[in-house]
Amino acid sequence: MSDPVYRGRFAPSPTGLLHAGSLSTAVGSYLEARARGGQWLLRVEDLDPPREVPGAADAILRTLDAFGFEWDGAVEYQSRRHALYRDALQQLIASGAAYACACTRKEIAAAARRGLDGYVYPGTCRNGCPAGREGKAWRLRVNDEAIVAADRLQGDYRQNLAEDIGDFVLLRADGFWAYQLAVVVDDAEQGITDIVRGADLLVSTPRQIQVQRSLGVGTPSYCHLPVLVNAAGEKLSKQTLAPAIEAGDAVVQLRQALARLGHPPPADCLSLADIWSWARANWSLARVPRGPVS
Ligand code: GLU
Repeated sequence: MSDPVYRGRFAPSPTGLLHAGSLSTAVGSYLEARARGGQWLLRVEDLDPPREVPGAADAILRTLDAFGFEWDGAVEYQSRRHALYRDALQQLIASGAAYACACTRKEIAAAARRGLDGYVYPGTCRNGCPAGREGKAWRLRVNDEAIVAADRLQGDYRQNLAEDIGDFVLLRADGFWAYQLAVVVDDAEQGITDIVRGADLLVSTPRQIQVQRSLGVGTPSYCHLPVLVNAAGEKLSKQTLAPAIEAGDAVVQLRQALARLGHPPPADCLSLADIWSWARANWSLARVPRGPVS
């Protein structure tokens, strides 16, 4: 049965090539979209040029294509969507939800305690920057209340943003847009109904729900897939030196990605086409493990 509307997406950052962890995320988000009769969009999250690896965006798209992923519509690039982020920030400034912040990292580290994702901003500039200081970053005001993200795989995930995170950055002092703003603006503008991504982003979800509420846009459905960890229990990432996947190895890699998601393909599925057709016919979120997988 098809959902009336399902629009999912995969949103890689070109800060490195695809590795086994990001491949699993792509596979899960793709199969969930197709199993629900939905669309699957690709968005390159190239928001942070200093951290980008030249050529990585093209290489990721080529690898996805070689693996047999079929995406709907044109690939979007966040680097071409700055006007949308600026409009959203203007709206948040006009409503009083966003304020300018002059604090340096050092000042915050000296005054703040640690929360769930770095320092909890102590609110220094909440009622205006200190005299003689100009705010270059913009932060979103958060409330002292629970925000619950209902996750289809992980269950209810709860944070109190005032205690756990603090007012967070929308536009960085160096002029780059923050992921938390851009992702919400794009998901809303692209009509994304279902976000299926890695569980490392669960910690960001209440912030994104806060941005949605402050902008007056809807909250999509969330599903956070298990992260892939190495033998030391660390999440696979560029920082932990996860090897890039090779398209020449696609059959083996795809079989492994599906197995990690609780869907080991039968031994006689030996081509990409066979594996995909088996996976599309057999995909069920109920079989996907919740916790980290290796
Ligand atoms: N660009 C993010 C990443 O590669 C994913 C963002 C998302 O799926 O919301 O980690």
